[in-house]
Amino acid sequence: MSRIVYVNGRYLPYAQAGVHVEDRGNQLADAVYEVCEIKGGRIVDERRHMARLERSLGEIQMRLPMTLAALGRVIRETIRRNRVRDGYFYLQISRGQARRDFVFPEPETEPSVICVVRHASPAKAEATAAKGIAVKTMPDERWRRVDIKTVMLLPSVLAREAAKREGAAEAWLVDGDGYVTEGATSNAWIVDDKGTLITRPADFGILRGVTRSVVIDLAAREGLTLVERGFSVAEAKAAREAFITSATGMVMPVVRIDQTTIGDGRPGRFTMMLRELFHSQAELAV
Ligand code: PLP
Repeated sequence: MSRIVYVNGRYLPYAQAGVHVEDRGNQLADAVYEVCEIKGGRIVDERRHMARLERSLGEIQMRLPMTLAALGRVIRETIRRNRVRDGYFYLQISRGQARRDFVFPEPETEPSVICVVRHASPAKAEATAAKGIAVKTMPDERWRRVDIKTVMLLPSVLAREAAKREGAAEAWLVDGDGYVTEGATSNAWIVDDKGTLITRPADFGILRGVTRSVVIDLAAREGLTLVERGFSVAEAKAAREAFITSATGMVMPVVRIDQTTIGDGRPGRFTMMLRELFHSQAELAV
């Protein structure tokens, strides 16, 4: 558990940390966030995560509330105070506290900045990856700008809960044409019988995952064939391998989609190779 949380300029004990009831993140989901892995005390792919944060802010007509260097210091100090070596940080920026109104508050309203860090067990993650996970397909009921990493996550919350009730660790969201968009909290991939990696193009229909982009670079480095195109649920169920990517799960094998076993029901060869090589391609910052 995070013991110390950064909230608006202060490092507070977890139990005492909070934002105002009229924080716009709280009332209107008027906030964006980033989640980034911490490995061996180093931040994984910080540059790409911060670039996406800046983009998300731009898309909701906000600017960084402090320089990237200052934000980096806040993140490092929160990690240091919690003595986290392996885990992740959660950084959230909202449009700040103001009397509830749909239109933007006065321009001088200070954004709210929150940073929470958590321990995660690498051994536990490896044990999960060794077995692989199940996913449940569900209609994608989110808004059309899921390329922006906002805290407006209710459809994903409901999808993940429904998946959990059926023993699945992730929900794969499906568009009106029967194509998988992405996971509720991850990007979705399949590998066909020729060993081609397939994932949906990062248009407005999915979040441009940082892990996804690192895997794309890794695949190029390893000489793997990769196609960015949509794939249907039926194609996924017939695939040789399937996996998801995210900062918290890295490359995680999928061995079951709904009631269908993928391949021989064990994590696939390409998937595990990408998982093993992931950190050799990712950027680690102290
Ligand atoms: N897609 C969605 C909807 C997500 O919420 C996430 C991560 O939270 C991802 C994809 C994966 O993105 P990243 O690899 O940057 O963690």
